[in-house]
Amino acid sequence: MKLRIPIILTLLALPVAAHAQSSSSPKISAQARQIQDSAIVVDTHADTPQRFLDENFDIGSTDPNDYGHISLDKMKAGNLGAEFFSIWVEPETNQGHYARHTLDLIDSVYEQAARHPTRMMMASSVDDIERAHREHKLAALLGIEGGHSIENDLRLLRDYYRLGVRYMTLSWSNTNEFADSSGDIDDPKVEHHNGLTEGGKQIVSEMNRLGMLVDISHVADKTFWDAIAIAKAPVIASHSSARALTNHPRNMTDDMLRAVAKNGGVVQVNFYSGFVDESYRKANDAQAKDRAAAVKANADQLRATGKTVTYLDNDRIEREWVAKIQRPPFSSLVDHIDHIAKVAGIEHVGLGSDFDGVMGATPEGMDSAADLPRITQALLDRGYSAADIRKILGGNILRVFREAERVSRELQAH
Ligand SMILES: [Zn+2]
Repeated sequence: MKLRIPIILTLLALPVAAHAQSSSSPKISAQARQIQDSAIVVDTHADTPQRFLDENFDIGSTDPNDYGHISLDKMKAGNLGAEFFSIWVEPETNQGHYARHTLDLIDSVYEQAARHPTRMMMASSVDDIERAHREHKLAALLGIEGGHSIENDLRLLRDYYRLGVRYMTLSWSNTNEFADSSGDIDDPKVEHHNGLTEGGKQIVSEMNRLGMLVDISHVADKTFWDAIAIAKAPVIASHSSARALTNHPRNMTDDMLRAVAKNGGVVQVNFYSGFVDESYRKANDAQAKDRAAAVKANADQLRATGKTVTYLDNDRIEREWVAKIQRPPFSSLVDHIDHIAKVAGIEHVGLGSDFDGVMGATPEGMDSAADLPRITQALLDRGYSAADIRKILGGNILRVFREAERVSRELQAH
């Protein structure tokens, strides 16, 4: 998700209204707790680096009123073992310095790990994730969200790999030099490529050679088909849900789910209410125009009084509007996991929350990483076995990651 309007970033930490947390504490059975605590739980998408950089947010925060989805305490409570932190560069406000902002965000994650060396470590391989698990630390990984970060330069792609980046979505909501995006595919003002360009295909090949996961979340449908046709290693959708249930172009059709299964990859379910609940999606669409107008009015007013408009100013208004829409039930999220498990197979589904990137709009009962055991409970209630639940919680993405590492070694040996 993430709002897409011009923003000016500052380091000003402004007070933010805590968003309503559900007060009922759900029951997690001893069996669910045991499964959760014995699994390596991996989430493949959190936008918290924006907070590290723009708000100076400390992942060690113990503030009970903090509205965020992610902190070391919340992750511990949910036994989240590995997080892929999203390196997302807003494409309009950062024009001309995408690489610099990419590097700043990468640095922000390293700085958090340096601040909390006993509780968190940087990780760039499956072995690292397993070591972090044994040492009871959070494994922090990096994934770039949006191919524009490489500025159409394979050298930058390789540099990011060397800094530890282990996946890249070929596009974000903006079509870039080499890949069409689902976010603007219907916009006639945008020049499209009919999927992936020849250069884009080279980028996919280079990612395979390096061992960087090719991530097809956000891309246009044709880009997906082009990428999966040439990928030599399994692909991932780091944060996408099922279009058969919620008709959003960010979600994947059943044909795409089956193609990912055939490719050996994995689809990591996005928790955003607008991607997992059809009624919510419609309500959200219905208010989109008024919400954007309110954000703009607020920004104009601030500017008129000589103030700088921050990401947080816009986010605060967005959250106020989002709070007017009824939250979907928790079952909507579980329905997507269940659907993908049925269509693609149990080996091809996982968790890609989009935590801290959705204006707080998650289903009822999913308020932070501490609520992850609720997914395990819900899957148990639906008859899933402990072994299958562990695959969803992290086993599948670790298998895919290991296979990408193996393909990379093989390609480099030739
Ligand atoms: Zn995204």
